[in-house]
Amino acid sequence: MPATRKSDGVARTCRECGGRAAKSFLMKSLPTQPMTGTRPYQKGMIRAMDFSLSEDQQAVQKTVRKFVDREIMPHIETWDADQHFETGIIEKMADLGLMGVCIPERYGGQGMDYNTLAIVCAELERGDTAFRTAVSVHTSLNSMTLLQWGDEFQKEKYLTPQAQGRKVGAYALTEPNAGSDVAAMQTRAKRDGDDYILNGSKTWISLCDVADHILVFAKTSPEDGHKGLSCFIVERTFPGVSTRGFKNKLGIRAGNTGEVFLENVRVPGENLVGEEGEGFKIAMSALDNGRFSVAAGAVGLIDACIEASVKYANQRETFGKPIGKHQLVQQMIAKMTAGYETSRLLVFRVGWLKNQGWRNTRETSLAKWYACDAAFNAAVDAVQIHGANGYSHEFPVERYMRNAKAPVIYEGTREIHQIMQGEYALGYRKDKELRRNLPPWPFEKEGEVSQGQE
Ligand SMILES: Cc1cc2nc3c(=O)[nH]c(=O)nc-3n(C[C@H](O)[C@H](O)[C@H](O)COP(=O)(O)OP(=O)(O)OC[C@H]3O[C@@H](n4cnc5c(N)ncnc54)[C@H](O)[C@@H]3O)c2cc1C
Repeated sequence: MPATRKSDGVARTCRECGGRAAKSFLMKSLPTQPMTGTRPYQKGMIRAMDFSLSEDQQAVQKTVRKFVDREIMPHIETWDADQHFETGIIEKMADLGLMGVCIPERYGGQGMDYNTLAIVCAELERGDTAFRTAVSVHTSLNSMTLLQWGDEFQKEKYLTPQAQGRKVGAYALTEPNAGSDVAAMQTRAKRDGDDYILNGSKTWISLCDVADHILVFAKTSPEDGHKGLSCFIVERTFPGVSTRGFKNKLGIRAGNTGEVFLENVRVPGENLVGEEGEGFKIAMSALDNGRFSVAAGAVGLIDACIEASVKYANQRETFGKPIGKHQLVQQMIAKMTAGYETSRLLVFRVGWLKNQGWRNTRETSLAKWYACDAAFNAAVDAVQIHGANGYSHEFPVERYMRNAKAPVIYEGTREIHQIMQGEYALGYRKDKELRRNLPPWPFEKEGEVSQGQE
């Protein structure tokens, strides 16, 4: 018997229509506009979300999985213990086209869709959070920001070599006294003829010691609060730039994080991204892309936790049977599975919104908060399932647990995302139209001008 649903969600048998109503309910329930949409909704338009992987996406997933198994897995415990960031991996990722996977081909990228970036991030973090963080920073926070906000000169000079993986990009927002409270930053940029002179310091900057180009946020008019921030492309070779990597972090020990110092750094005016005073908007829209890739990576970390836990639960025996036969162990694995599936759906929804060219700040924040929490919880439970062995270097789960903490802190702490979600739900927060948008996918051909771009 065909069944249909009314808006109260109750399933009912439909004698009159023989199931057509069921179909129309399903069609109506498909998303026709995003929760935070800024794009005009075309009447009658129905867009279906389809999260089955295309042949291209499957090929990318397989390639990255093999790459991680061959190039990262055999060495990661040593790199983590030695606190060594293996730059050779970045070069190999560049050879595979992974450093600009969702950047249009005309700017040196692979021209694939935004969910392909999510797939790459999940597979990389299955290996280690350090290399996913590198892609989050280089591709999402830096290159996608140049794609969205940069002019043609900046896209040619900086985005293209970054997308090709010949140059590495970083993103420097955080300062010793300004993390969640971005507008409290003290780095200054003063106009000097056609140039700007930058002074200040940034901290907790991923890839600080290896990046060739750093997106630096600084105050051009301090009296204007968050409206007084501007964004600059700073080259490592500019006189006055120096960096210092941290040692002894809790996790992501195979990654590079540290400080960036700016001492009377002369930055040409052509390196101002967007307009003066637009830095806060640029920084936040960059985070819409960064958070997406962080959430996608969390899916990969949960995957790794499930893989390790299932293997161990089937091998380790207590009370005469594998521990996997104990219901409380099953419960921990069941929770990981729920976290994996839910996070994956939230991430793919964001990628889908990006492909449409629709605003996704609210959905991205939710995906990032949820997936990173789920990944941390999964890692804690993976250690628990391994008992004392989980507390040792002999098994990867202790590294997963240490690595899983940073994503709950960076790119908006858990608390900041909770506040955002609460404010959206209560109607206190509304997204304003941006002057420039991330281009929808499929990307336009060379010469075409996309909506929202000059
Ligand atoms: C491994 C790693 C890599 C990083 N990479 C980068 C990078 O590449 N580029 C970059 O710019 N930054 C980077 N960061 C910095 C990161 O983005 C910041 O640490 C983060 O934004 C939080 O800022 P904070 O550490 O200053 O914490 P604070 O802002 O000082 O917050 C401290 C605590 O107070 C809570 N809190 C703050 N305000 C509120 C509020 N209004 N309501 C409730 N609770 C609140 C926070 O949630 C947190 O629990 C990185 C950090 C780490 C750990």
